Amino acid sequence: MENKDALLIRVGQGYDVHRFEAGRKLWLGGIHIPFEKGLLGHSDADVLLHAIMDAMLGALALRDIGYHFPDTDPKYKDVDSKVLLKETNKLIREKGYQLGNIDATIVAERPKLNPHIPEMITCIAMILDADPSQISIKATTNERMGFVGNEEGMMAIASVLLVRS
Ligand SMILES: [Zn+2]
Repeated sequence: MENKDALLIRVGQGYDVHRFEAGRKLWLGGIHIPFEKGLLGHSDADVLLHAIMDAMLGALALRDIGYHFPDTDPKYKDVDSKVLLKETNKLIREKGYQLGNIDATIVAERPKLNPHIPEMITCIAMILDADPSQISIKATTNERMGFVGNEEGMMAIASVLLVRS
C-alpha cells in the first residue's frame, strides 16, 4: 500500500462465533472473565478479538485470520489472541495504515458483560497502541432466541476504520 493512490481511509467488518464448552476459561476482549464455561477453539477462542482482527484485515483486503494464523498450525494451539491482535496491528502498520476506530458488539445471553467492558477497552487500546476513545465495545443479548439465546455459544461483530499513516 505504499502506492500514493492508496485510499486515505478504509473500512472493514468482522464476524466470529464460538461454541461454549464446560471446563474452558472464558477469554473475551483480551481479559479473563469468571464464568462456568468458556469458548471452544484452537486458540483461546476470544471471539471479540477475532472479529476485530478480521475487520482490520478486511479493511485492507488482506483475507482473514484463518489465512494468517491457520488453526491447522500447531504453533497456534491455545495461542493467546492478544498476540495475534498485536501481529495483525503490525501487519496493517507495515501496509501504511493505523487504527481510526473500532466499533464492536458482543452477543451473549450470559454472563453479564457490561461491568467488564472498560477493562476490555483498556486492554485492546494497549495492544493497538491506541487511545481508549478509539475503541467502542457494546454487549447485547439475543433475546433468548437461536444458538446464542440457548447459550450454545457467543458471537461478536466488529467494524473497523483504518487511516493511512
Ligand atoms: Zn474465532
